Parts: sequence; C-alpha cells; structure tokens
Amino acid sequence: MEDCLFCKIAAGEIPSKKLFEDDDILAFYDIDPQAPFHFLVIPKKHFTSAAALTEEQAPLLGHIFAVIARLCAENGCEKGYRVVTNVGEDGGQSVPHLHFHVLAKRSLAWPPG
Ligand code: 5GP
Repeated sequence: MEDCLFCKIAAGEIPSKKLFEDDDILAFYDIDPQAPFHFLVIPKKHFTSAAALTEEQAPLLGHIFAVIARLCAENGCEKGYRVVTNVGEDGGQSVPHLHFHVLAKRSLAWPPG
C-alpha cells in the first residue's frame, strides 16, 4: 500500500534491523524499544489492523505465532514474554499496518496503561 511505513519496511525501501524474513512476514526490532528485547512482526501484505482479519488469515497468523515462539526460544526469553497488537485509536495503534509487538527481558506490568 502506498504511503504505508511498514509496507515500505517490508519492501526494503526503508531499512530495518531484521530478525527474520520470508515471503510472507518480517520480524524487525522496534525503533523505540519498550523492553530490553522488543521486536515487531508484520505480514508483508497490508492489513490495517487486527480488526481487518478474517478466518482466511488463520494460516498466516499461525505462521506469525510459530515464528515468534522460535525467535523467543532462540533469543533467551525463557522467563516469558508478551505479544500484543494495538488496534485503532483507543488501542494505542500509531502505525496502521497490522503488527505484533513482542516484548521480553523485563517483568511486564498488568494491566497495561
Ligand atoms: P503501535 O503504536 O502502532 O502499536 O506500534 C508502532 C511501533 O512501531 C512503535 O513501537 C514504534 O516505535 C515502531 N516504529 C515506528 N516507526 C518505526 C520505524 O521506522 N522503524 C521501526 N523499526 N519501528 C518503528
């Protein structure tokens, strides 16, 4: 999608520090980390947020979560981690391209602010 920051990152038009990439998804470090280990996972296909998902995306979401589990296992997150996706204004979403935050290596409070 034109003028979408994460579409441009997915296409390599804007550089990112990548952890994993294949034909369908990209995992890269957040530019403003909120935990010692904080990365984002995006589908390369544009979805505005989780609100745009349907049953059709079940395989894509399964793949995303499998990659998250593997990256966390490979990067010393044995104490746990949080996966979160913000949706819309009240959800605190600032980039309107579906992304999953993965935060780890500190104790995370609940409930979130
Ligand atoms: P949201 O607020 O939409 O849930 O999360 C967007 C995230 O994208 C934020 O944590 C923000 O730091 C990150 N972000 C925004 N612009 C860039 C960028 O150009 N590169 C990277 N790596 N992360 C970005």
